[in-house]
Amino acid sequence: MKKYSSKINKIRSFALALIFIGFIVMYGAVFFKNSVILVLLFMGLGLLCIIASTVVYLWIGLLSTRAVKVICPNCGKQTKMLGRVDICMYCNEPLTLDPSLEGKEFSEEYNRKINKKNE
Ligand SMILES: [Zn+2]
Repeated sequence: MKKYSSKINKIRSFALALIFIGFIVMYGAVFFKNSVILVLLFMGLGLLCIIASTVVYLWIGLLSTRAVKVICPNCGKQTKMLGRVDICMYCNEPLTLDPSLEGKEFSEEYNRKINKKNE
């Protein structure tokens, strides 16, 4: 069984991961106290990750406003979808806006090739 998650959820976890990476990298600067250049480098990198994550969060906000709201036929909750195919945020039910894709096995290939692992 392939595991997919909703695009918005996926981007959200990516942004969260970036924050953690940023803090870990900044914490790494502690080990290079002797070298000002290295400390500045690690701090800068960490800060960049955190800034990037903020940008990603803003991007999610923008995407959410453009996302189509649909009622999931499986769990009956209102979910948001991006692109022609997406996954319900609550029950992971594949959803599509394109009638020609209805009934077909879910594939991210119908959108961009974002996630090629587990294939
Ligand atoms: Zn659902």
